[in-house]
Parts: sequence; C-alpha cells; structure tokens
Amino acid sequence: MNNNTRTLAQWQALLEQFCTQSMSVETLLGAYDPVRERRRLSAAASFGLMGIQVAVEHGGFGAPFSVKAQLAQRLAGLDFGVAMAVVNSQNIADNLSHWLPSEVSKRWVPGLLTGELVGCTALTERSAGSDFSAITMQAEQTSDGWRLTGEKSWIINAKIADLFLVYAQTQPGSGAAGIAAFVVQASGEGFERSADSFTSVAALANASGFRLNGYLAQSDELVHPPGLAFKRALDSINGARVYVAAMCVGMLKESLRLAHAYGRERHTFGQPLGAHQGWRWVLADAAVDLEAASVLVDRAALAIDEKKNVQDLAAKAKVFATRAAQRHLPALLHALGAEGLRDTYPLARHVAAAQIATLVDGSTEMLLERIGKNLDQTG
Ligand SMILES: Cc1cc2nc3c(=O)[nH]c(=O)nc-3n(C[C@H](O)[C@H](O)[C@H](O)COP(=O)(O)OP(=O)(O)OC[C@H]3O[C@@H](n4cnc5c(N)ncnc54)[C@H](O)[C@@H]3O)c2cc1C
Repeated sequence: MNNNTRTLAQWQALLEQFCTQSMSVETLLGAYDPVRERRRLSAAASFGLMGIQVAVEHGGFGAPFSVKAQLAQRLAGLDFGVAMAVVNSQNIADNLSHWLPSEVSKRWVPGLLTGELVGCTALTERSAGSDFSAITMQAEQTSDGWRLTGEKSWIINAKIADLFLVYAQTQPGSGAAGIAAFVVQASGEGFERSADSFTSVAALANASGFRLNGYLAQSDELVHPPGLAFKRALDSINGARVYVAAMCVGMLKESLRLAHAYGRERHTFGQPLGAHQGWRWVLADAAVDLEAASVLVDRAALAIDEKKNVQDLAAKAKVFATRAAQRHLPALLHALGAEGLRDTYPLARHVAAAQIATLVDGSTEMLLERIGKNLDQTG
C-alpha cells in the first residue's frame, strides 16, 4: 500500500476503513486484552498509520505534521487511548529514522512501519513527571555501551511495546545537561515490565511501566547524547502538544455530534430536547469553544508544517483545547441524561481522557508557566 504520496482526503478515507475494521465499540470495551491491542496497532500499520511522517527514504510517507494531527483528531473522537497508542508507536519510527544513521535505524524502523514492532517513549518516573530534569534512571558508560538501571512509570504502550526510547541520567546531579536517550529492547536481559494497571482509558493506550536492572544498551543505541537529549525532547514535545490538543478537538466534535443527534430524537414535555432553549445552549456553548480550539490547533499544526517556532502557540492550543474538553465533555454527557452513560457512547471515556490530556506532554500548569515566561521575554 506504500506508494509514498497521499492526499489528506486519501488518508482520511483509509483512516475510515481502519476505524470500521478495528474500532468497533465491542473492541473498545471490556477487560484489557494485550493481544487485541497489538492486533489493533498492526491493523493501523497496514493502513500506513505508523509511517505518516517518516521520510520516504525510510519507507514512510513524509506527510506534513498537519496530516498526523487531523488523523489523530478523528481517531480520538472514537477513543483517545487508541489514538495515543497509534501516535506514540509512530513517533518512535519517526524519531529513530530521523536521528540514527540508517544502518542502525534499519534494524527497527521497517518493523515499526509494518506493525511487527511496537514502540514507546519513556521519560516519566514515579518521582519525576513535570520536573523531567529530576529523573533518576541511571546510565553508566562501560567499555561496550551503557548500563541502565531504574524504573519508568505511566508510559503509553509499555504493556506491549518491543522498543523503548528511554531517557536516563548519565551524570547524577547534573540535571538536564546529563540526560541522554537510548533504544531499549524488551527482549534484552535486564528488562522487566511492571504490573501497573490504570483506568480503562489509559489501558487502551497500553500504559504501564517497566524496570531496567543493569540493562546493556550498545554504544550505537544511544539516540540522543547528553547535552542534546533534553533540548531535543523539549523541541519535539511542541508537536505532541498540538496533536493532544487536536485529540481534544476530536473528542469534543464527536460528543457534540452525538448530543445534537440525540436532541432531535429524545422528547421531553412534548418537544424534542433540542427545542428547549436551556438544553440547546449547552451545545451552543460547546460549539463556540470547539470552533475556537479548532482554529488554534489548525494554526499551530500549519506553523509546524512551515517549520516555524511554535513553542508559544502549541502551549496555548493545548491549554485552550484541553480546558474546552474538560469543561464541555461533562456538560454534553449530562445533556444525554442517563443514556449517555451507556457504554455504546464514548462520552464517559472522553471525560476521563480529557483529564489525561491535561497531564501528558506538559501539564496545564507547566504550559501556563511557559506562556507566562514568553510574555516576559516578548514584553
Ligand atoms: C495516561 C497517561 C499516559 C502517559 N504517557 C506517558 C508516556 O508515554 N511517556 C512519558 O514519559 N510520560 C507519560 N505520562 C506521564 C505524564 O507526562 C506526566 O503525568 C506529566 O508529566 C505530569 O507529571 P506527574 O503526573 O508526575 O505530575 P507532577 O509533576 O507530580 O505534578 C502534579 C500536579 O502538580 C502540578 N505542578 C507540578 N509542578 C508545578 C509547579 N511548579 N507549579 C504549579 N503546578 C505544578 C502539575 O501540573 C500536576 O497537576 C503519561 C501520563 C498519563 C496519565
């Protein structure tokens, strides 16, 4: 299926096929099943979704960031956890193909693109989330590579991933300057998955943790060296902020569509719900913020396509979109009455997902700090 150029409309048509085939309500509910989730990511790969931004010479499609954001938006309308799982594995193919020499990256990138391998990015530890420079996973240089020891928590895809981009401290006490990032393989000696289990939304993102007990990363498995890793992580996080904001837009858009349709069918006091002004204004309020969030997200995504500095815009888009989701999703759920709590509706899952969206890739408070500092710098 890889003819390497697709229009946005072609991507969208293929995504709809994936959604029909692999996102049925039955597969989004019930007990967590790692086999089912791996199969879902393989199916996503078969539609090219693991190579959206990966350069053509590495077997991907080299599509602009805005395509990825649009697809993430639609996917999250059905399920935020699955959208995060797909995007996060894809990020690893993108990251490794971009930063490693091709003779090294080709060990893994083809497998990531076909879905044979699943990837994830591990920064967070139980004792260090927002304060990324405080991580304690240790990387000690040896004659044949780097010995990694420590624990990571709250990592998307960690339950099923084969490849981990792991951030670790090479010089304890040096903070950001000493942080480096390595490829870690789940099949390697010293790798151990944790038994963490989280809420059902996080479960569909395959979120969990792992421990490294003196795991040996080869010298050429150093992806981001000390001095560069922290900066590169912060640079790439702007994109993540925009696609998480896009996912909030997707959840809000789908919830508004469902509530609007319900308001036409359901009657109270002799009228459709939508004919009651008090009810209709709840949807109108959501529509206002949805429009504003979409504009911000599209602007930020376009700025990334144009390789502009989006630090400020990405932070604003994420703060606005996550807050809009936090504010309106519970109101839309309420507007469906008890019916909205049926599993067949995604709204209750979306309400929990909006909470996750406010934490991942920079919490609201961290982003407000960033925006505040930028105000100081720009006067
Ligand atoms: C479902 C899920 C998936 C995730 N996936 C990944 C992943 O794939 N990879 C990864 O590395 N991490 C992942 N994370 C972790 C995520 O990045 C962290 O949750 C986030 O960085 C916040 O860290 P924390 O949870 O430790 O909160 P803390 O840093 O302990 O903060 C707690 C609260 O205090 C606020 N706060 C902290 N410092 C300040 C301050 N100076 N001023 C004001 N308020 C402050 C925070 O905003 C937050 O509300 C995931 C988290 C979740 C929930």
